[in-house]
Amino acid sequence: MKILIVEDQVRLAQLVRQGLSERAYTVKIEHTCAGARDALCEDSYDLIILDLGLQDGDGLDLLREWRKAGFKEPVLILSARDTVQDRVKGLDLGADDYLAKPFSLEELLARVRSQLRRQSDVKETVLECGGVKLDLLQLTAELHGQRIDLTRREFALLEIFMQSPGRILTRTYISEKIWASHYDVDTNLLDVYMSRLRTKLDTSPDKPLFKTIRGVGYQLL
Ligand code: CA
Repeated sequence: MKILIVEDQVRLAQLVRQGLSERAYTVKIEHTCAGARDALCEDSYDLIILDLGLQDGDGLDLLREWRKAGFKEPVLILSARDTVQDRVKGLDLGADDYLAKPFSLEELLARVRSQLRRQSDVKETVLECGGVKLDLLQLTAELHGQRIDLTRREFALLEIFMQSPGRILTRTYISEKIWASHYDVDTNLLDVYMSRLRTKLDTSPDKPLFKTIRGVGYQLL
């Protein structure tokens, strides 16, 4: 389980990290909005613990931005702003939970467990987007009701996109999910696979399924 902590108070961030690490979570800390932005573009997380008052911006703006971009990672806001209006605003913007500072580490850990549990419960086994239907249990794919034959690797690649429709997935992110992390992402193997997927799925030229973001990656529209 990977958790991202966005918190400008260095000691507080370390304290939380220590508590999480002792329970075998993998933790990354970012102190700024800019750092958090990069971190989420480069990697995926099972949970984000988000402070609101950050030196280079407001955590709420980050949250708004992420949800707009289609990032679905659960977000737990950890903030000194603790009025009802603050909580409502955070939750309405797409936060999954809200804990006011000062807090007890035990309660934070309980809420983290609760979020991660909920996440594993709601994992969907059938994904649908743009006329494509993926059954993750049967390992079958359909396009507008017609069965499409995909290799295991093509299926895995398509699944990553279907998990995050609308989100721009970087080449590094995709390659690390599909191939071993030591794989050299500069080679064109990913493009070869994308081209195969397009041949099988992107059958309508005026309504493409995938968009190439030059030098960055791909997006399922
Ligand atoms: Ca702060």
